[in-house]
Order: sequence, then structure tokens, then C-alpha cells
Amino acid sequence: MNSGCRVAQPPIGGLPAKFTLENEHLVIQSDIKLSRNHELIRDLDQLREQILSTLDLPVQKQPVVVYLFADETRYANYLQARYPRLPPRRAYFVGTSRELAVYTYWGDRIQEDLRHEFTHGVLHATLKDVPLWLDEGLAEYFEVASQPQGMNREYAMNLAAEIATGWKPNLDRLESLESVDQMYKPEYQESWAWVHFLLQHNEDSHAVLTNYLRELRTTSQPGPLSTRLREVIPVADRRFLNHAGSLTDGVVRVGRIEEK
Ligand SMILES: [Zn+2]
Repeated sequence: MNSGCRVAQPPIGGLPAKFTLENEHLVIQSDIKLSRNHELIRDLDQLREQILSTLDLPVQKQPVVVYLFADETRYANYLQARYPRLPPRRAYFVGTSRELAVYTYWGDRIQEDLRHEFTHGVLHATLKDVPLWLDEGLAEYFEVASQPQGMNREYAMNLAAEIATGWKPNLDRLESLESVDQMYKPEYQESWAWVHFLLQHNEDSHAVLTNYLRELRTTSQPGPLSTRLREVIPVADRRFLNHAGSLTDGVVRVGRIEEK
């Protein structure tokens, strides 16, 4: 699911303001009333803990502010008026020095969309910047609420099919992307797969990612992650291909269990 991205202008006017829910790390301004114990809010609190522990990040200082519109029309009208050049998507994250804001609306995929954009918020609350591909790859990884952790079944199936017909990864190309209108489904999918590989291949790949994120806490331009990855794992591209091609093993197993 490629629901969102980052843009760099401050929001103005017309925002949901009827109901506000607030805790230390999250503010939700909504057109509709949510209880403090709503499962979506508990889910985001747990997700925040999971992101910080998985990525070895410090507790954020700045809260993420979610603007939750009642419906798609109101949301789309607001986005169109404020950010007319953005491609239409179900949700957006807008990080500025003033606010870490998520815009979305109440719909069928609200949990996935909130998890995706909230992940951007948590990352930008603790890091100076995040390369676009990594920002989106991490958001795609953490938007998945089901088990196994981070498994996007659709992407895994697509990748298996594409690898079978000769597709090759290109992390350097992903690293060259600078704007969200260069990111479409294949880019989200490959970014997700690299993050899945880094986090789940082995301790070395995991450490490459967490060390890189540690650098991003103090500098916005640490250079490409691919250089560090190939220093630690010289055959990283081949390992990645094996990893990405074998993801469907788990998908098929889960599918069979569910059918019983
Ligand atoms: Zn995104």
C-alpha cells in the first residue's frame, strides 16, 4: 500500500478540530469522536514502542499530530486546496520544524494508513532526516498490524513473481529518489523489501540499519546506506534477492493454516 509521503509546507485552515485526544506522544484532532481507549489509539501506542525498540531509537520529544477527517471528500478537498500539486493518496505525513502532522480520513483502511503515517512521525521526531526510500520502506514495514511482523503479503507475492521473470533489485536507484512523485508501487514495494531484509536477514544487516539510524540522529546527510551494507555484507544484493524470493514460503504456510 502506498498511502503517503512527506511534504514540506505548513498546513493552514479547515482542519478537523471538533474533538481532541491527547497523550504524551500523540495528539488526535478529529471530526468524529473517539474514546481514549479506542483500539486504534492503543495500537499506535504499542506501535511506537515497537518502532523504538526494533530500531533502537530514543523516546521522541515531539508528539505526532493526527488530523482525522470524517470522510474522504472533506479530506480530499482540504488536501487539494492546501497542497494542489500532491498526487491523491489516502493519507499524508507533513513534517515541519513546527509540527509532525498526519492527515487522513475515517475509512476502511484507517488502521493501516494511521500506522504508516505515524511511523513517519515517530522517525521524524527522533531523526534529523530520513532518506525517502528508507522513510517509506520503514513506514510500509510497520504499517502491517498482522503477523508475521512486517509481512506485506501482496508485495511478497509480487516480488516472487517478478524475481521468477528476472527482476533485479537496485538499491542505488532507490537511494537517488528525492520526491514522492517519483515513488509508485514498485518503489514502495522494493523499499519495503530492503527494510524487511535489513531487519530480518541477520544480526549484521540489522546492525547496518540501526547504526545508520543512529547517525541520522545527529546528521541529515550520512551518505548512502548501500555503501555501509556492502562493506558489511559484500554479497548483499544476492542475499537480498534470496531473502525477497523466499518470503512467499511464509505467506503460503499462513494461507494453508487459515484455510483449515
Ligand atoms: Zn509514506
